[in-house]
Amino acid sequence: MSKRILVTGGAGFIGSAVVRQAIRETDHQVVVVDKLTYAGNMDSLAPVSNDPRYAFERADIADAAKMRELFERYRPDAVMHLAAESHVDRSIDGPGEFIQTNVVGTFTLLQVALGYWRTLPGAERDAFRFHHISTDEVFGSLGEDGLFCETTAYDPRSPYSASKAASDHLVRAWHHTYGLPVLVTNCSNNYGPYHFPEKLIPLIIINALEGLKLPVYGKGANVRDWLFVDDHARALLTVLTKGTVGETYCVGGRCEKANIDVVHTICALMDELAPSVKIGPRESLITYVADRPGHDMRYAIDASRIAADLNWEPQETFESGLRKTVEWYLANRTWWERIRSGVYRGERLGVVA
Ligand code: NAD
Repeated sequence: MSKRILVTGGAGFIGSAVVRQAIRETDHQVVVVDKLTYAGNMDSLAPVSNDPRYAFERADIADAAKMRELFERYRPDAVMHLAAESHVDRSIDGPGEFIQTNVVGTFTLLQVALGYWRTLPGAERDAFRFHHISTDEVFGSLGEDGLFCETTAYDPRSPYSASKAASDHLVRAWHHTYGLPVLVTNCSNNYGPYHFPEKLIPLIIINALEGLKLPVYGKGANVRDWLFVDDHARALLTVLTKGTVGETYCVGGRCEKANIDVVHTICALMDELAPSVKIGPRESLITYVADRPGHDMRYAIDASRIAADLNWEPQETFESGLRKTVEWYLANRTWWERIRSGVYRGERLGVVA
């Protein structure tokens, strides 16, 4: 059934993938609420910007009066809450914004959503959903074995993951205490088109294209479980419409890779898809740099609940998803050149002095 969905952070990497998919593949109406920080990008919403089922509002989720006004104006059936400060390295340099948006902003949004939800008539009240989108980083770091799942104890270690853990706890508390119908998802590392080039995969693709050094933290041994962003977007829309209220779903790609192996795979793809005699083999650009302070060693997700209960499985393999991603960056230079020439030029972030 078609819903009116208020998507916070819809101009970001994952939010924009959700919005493009919702407009392209469903009948839902979408209103994006986004502050347009350095990470928000209207170019990522250009493919849907003329659709009558899409609207955009520039606003800060921590602005309660503005949020109340938008809830009144759009009267959403559901909220998908993706707005956040999302980069671990930036949280090391400046944790204050992470507390403000991820903790205070989520609290503000919960309060406004609760006030609005209480005014809804019976059937609309039953159908309303507040879907909080979170990360597997709240669970801390794994050793060589084991997987995170819905019952894993929280053990966040960076300012980013601690702020997301706080927001997860607030969302569950608003369900248990006030009855707000919430859903929570914790997902592993995403990659794909429209990814801000401070993150590992797009940074390596673009640096490799330009013949610049490919910085690898520490020995490159840290392991992440990679998920193609459109697979995540499909998981989120599935949870929103079919998930059980109060439930948590872990989402992952069953795709564990050491960072150095990710970099090697990108080098091979770049040599194949964008060969350059001047640059030569991209492997020669790999440069090991000082590790991130407190760098979690391994993340991996057991996604069997969402598979069994909601019939969701990732469609892309790492090979097919990464090839699509490299092809997208090669075909969409204007999208990332605008970022590289302005707000972020590829510099190292998150080194404790
Ligand atoms: P992103 O940084 O690309 O986008 C975040 C968006 O939120 C931006 O458009 C930004 O302008 C907006 N925003 C920031 N502060 C705001 C505020 N105060 N009010 C309104 N809008 C604000 O992040 P992303 O990678 O798309 O992640 C989206 C969500 O998914 C986050 O909550 C993140 O914690 C979670 N998540 C991300 C990953 C990943 O691999 N990227 C994995 C799991 C979960």
